[in-house]
Amino acid sequence: MEFYNSLTHRKEQFVPRNGNKVGMYTCGPTVYHYAHIGNLRSYIMEDALEKALRYEGYDVTRVMNITDVGHLSSDADTGEDKMVKGAQREHKTVMEIAKFYTDAFFADCARLNIRTPDIVTPATSCIPEYINMISVLLEKGYAYPAGGNIYFDTSRLDKYYVFNDHDEADLAVGVREDVEEDVNKRHKADFVLWFTKSKFEDQALKWDSPWGVGYPGWHIECSCISIKHLGEYLDLHCGGIDNAFPHHTNEIAQSEAYLGHDWCHYWFHVHHLNTTTGKMSKSSGEFLTVSLLEEKGYDPLVYRLFCLQSHYRKGLVFTWENLDNAAAAYQKLLKRVAALNPDTGAAPDLEAAKPYQEQFRWALDNDLNTALAVTSVYNVLKAKELDDATRLYLLEDFDRVLSLNLLEGAAKLRAQDAARARTQSGGAYVVTGPADAAPEELAEIGALLLQRGEARKAKNWAESDRIRDELAGRGITLKDSRQGVQWSKNG
Ligand code: AMP
Ligand code: ZN
Repeated sequence: MEFYNSLTHRKEQFVPRNGNKVGMYTCGPTVYHYAHIGNLRSYIMEDALEKALRYEGYDVTRVMNITDVGHLSSDADTGEDKMVKGAQREHKTVMEIAKFYTDAFFADCARLNIRTPDIVTPATSCIPEYINMISVLLEKGYAYPAGGNIYFDTSRLDKYYVFNDHDEADLAVGVREDVEEDVNKRHKADFVLWFTKSKFEDQALKWDSPWGVGYPGWHIECSCISIKHLGEYLDLHCGGIDNAFPHHTNEIAQSEAYLGHDWCHYWFHVHHLNTTTGKMSKSSGEFLTVSLLEEKGYDPLVYRLFCLQSHYRKGLVFTWENLDNAAAAYQKLLKRVAALNPDTGAAPDLEAAKPYQEQFRWALDNDLNTALAVTSVYNVLKAKELDDATRLYLLEDFDRVLSLNLLEGAAKLRAQDAARARTQSGGAYVVTGPADAAPEELAEIGALLLQRGEARKAKNWAESDRIRDELAGRGITLKDSRQGVQWSKNG
């Protein structure tokens, strides 16, 4: 499999260190609010990557952290702690909102068919690991205490800016008026490993450490959690593109300094989803969530399809019109799958299926081209030489990666169509009248209404209107429903 490696700035063949075993790490959400659909774009594309690797036959172990401490409102260690701010907003404790929004995050993931990673670790559960790593960094001379905090000394590294050509002058420290430059740092790029003398009086979570009571910086959690569960060498690390600097840059700095060797060779970054007005942000009041899409009547999988239809390394603009197009495409797709016969009893033709599987695999292997992988689905539907059993076999196979519920969605459509057909066929067409109507009247009007039902089924609107008007002239009103018609007398 080949994909773009942000570390080397080119597409590369993915070769894990250990045969077909893959250790994969993903930066998890900061759980101070709901995830917005931008965050979820990253998780959808990372899910597609994980499933593409599994499709290729790799044995993937995926680990994700949950950031419930230490992430400040600026990634450069300034501003307020996002969790503390979230707790204040909702008048709850930090742990209460962490639990609530962690559950909400996984509920959103489930609705988007995002597989839960094999190991999920909250940042607050690994304090001893952070203390150990920071102690080693201090011993090795990669860290220094200053002003009560412990900092990583980026000047000790041959190369700090691994993802881009930043230099110190570019660092946006202190550019916001309300953000004071941290005078304790020896170099602008240095970052906090452990806060002891916090400038946040109301920091809710604090732990004892050799350097005093305090709490970890944001970056240390991912290095420690990854090394704890996946060992000294990591095959693949992913996250949204904004994480590349400073978060991933700092993860690499501290992990490699701690381990004394290189750490992770492949870095996968998903570009942002933006709205037409710009960046999506959880901190700025209203934002788009999966629940909002559902409230507006969209199946969350429509959003998944919307994401899969474009390349993960391109920015994606969200508009309701774009989502409507994806919704129409999804409905049409399910209809076409529903038109296939699942009960032919024939075995799939595995030989005939192979070229289609190769095409699908080729798309995924080429820098995770999910849009092309979706096209493979249409190619299968179009393929005249394939019978329905083989088509359905292929669609189920592709859905291991796409996770669009192609077969389940189609089965649901078929069941709905069957129910509609039953209602319309007359068998279940029920005429009901008032409880006090005379039997003769019920029979006579019932017969007329059944006649009207037949006329409606045949779309003979002139006849159905004629019967309705005749009854209206006799003071009878009709109420149509899916199951039939109910009549009543005016007054
Ligand atoms: P956070 O909860 O802020 O820690 O972010 C969770 C994940 O979402 C990280 O991998 C971010 O890089 C990613 N992310 C943040 N904003 C966006 C966006 N607008 N589009 C795609 N991914 C994003
Ligand atoms: Zn991380």
